[in-house]
Amino acid sequence: MLVFLVLGAAALASAHHSGEHFEGEKVFRVNVENENHINLIHELASTTQIDFWKPDSVTQIKPHSTVDFRVKAEDIATVENVLKQNELQYDVLISNLRNVMEAQFDSRVRKTGHSYEKYNNWETIEAWTQQVTTENPDLISRSVIGTTFEGRNMYLLKIGKAGTDKPAIFMDCGFHAREWISPAFCQWFVREAVRTYGQEIHMTELLQKLDFYILPVVNIDGYVYTWTKNRMWRKTRSTNAGSGCYGTDPNRNFNAGWCETGASRSPCADTYCGSAAESEKETKALADFIRSHLSSIKAYLTIHSYSQMLLYPYSYDYKLPANNVELNTMAKTAVKELASLHGTKYTYGPGATTIYPAAGGSDDWAYDQGIKYSFTFELRDTGRYGFLLPESQIRATCEETLLAIKYLANYVLEHLY
Ligand SMILES: [Zn+2]
Repeated sequence: MLVFLVLGAAALASAHHSGEHFEGEKVFRVNVENENHINLIHELASTTQIDFWKPDSVTQIKPHSTVDFRVKAEDIATVENVLKQNELQYDVLISNLRNVMEAQFDSRVRKTGHSYEKYNNWETIEAWTQQVTTENPDLISRSVIGTTFEGRNMYLLKIGKAGTDKPAIFMDCGFHAREWISPAFCQWFVREAVRTYGQEIHMTELLQKLDFYILPVVNIDGYVYTWTKNRMWRKTRSTNAGSGCYGTDPNRNFNAGWCETGASRSPCADTYCGSAAESEKETKALADFIRSHLSSIKAYLTIHSYSQMLLYPYSYDYKLPANNVELNTMAKTAVKELASLHGTKYTYGPGATTIYPAAGGSDDWAYDQGIKYSFTFELRDTGRYGFLLPESQIRATCEETLLAIKYLANYVLEHLY
């Protein structure tokens, strides 16, 4: 064990010239019972630097729920005093963030360069998109759907056997920079697609009859920033006029009840909705691609972490989608499939009631474009590691998630519209 911890630390030091070291920072989980508790958390958030992990912001806290947040070392005593004095029940999920941050690199794979069981930096993922395309010319083609704020190419992989007028499923990963398990899943999916095509009957049929559009990392600039400067970064890296704060929450930036609920108008907030819907080059590129392929795209899947949930519209409103019953049955079956491998339990339902109301999300937007099968995955875990899921869990997480995705894809194929 010691050996791997040491290797992990070495990997961290070499791959991760972090400006912040997170030494002594803690992640708390607080039980919130009533409005009084919510007000206390609001007060704490206004006087100390709190990074909300779940929900995404202080405004989304509701009674009878739990709140996970990260606290800087110098604020821990203050936060614990306030919690104790007001008799709020809480647990310390992570007692020293730096230790967990080093432990995320616990893969036993010694390989340098790309690995499906390690977290890969953007440079490695970019090279991988080229390599996997070159090695599988009859199944994969690569295109660039736009560039990011900092000028990086947004690569899209189209996976499927050549054919005319094929229906398609669009799946993206890496909306939120710190959710590293998400891009790992997109890479895993591509590998499993090409590895099992012609070997496994279901994948073979899916790729013969459908195309998958895979966007391995949406928020590339943010992802790069989590590797080089701040592992806990969430947003894009665009500049904001009149503010020294960077970035917009890409999953609050779509034209679906834009900025009406569960989003912030402040450029410094982690849930900043942007100056307008699709103000971000990344979300605009994604939306433009989907708009121009609406006749073929039958399902939209977006991969986030953490909390083990499968969500469908709506999140911007408590209204239910027209095919709510169908989506609910699909989600129920998908999470059952997922659990069949390792027993991982997911909850599911419409976003607004299952997690919390949040406007401007890509799933709601895609649904309102007419894509009637639209789902958001919140992958492992439920808070033990949060965004710092160890590499040793990549395989199991991706294997189980793949079962759910294959089920959904097959359902879509049997219910084309
Ligand atoms: Zn997310």
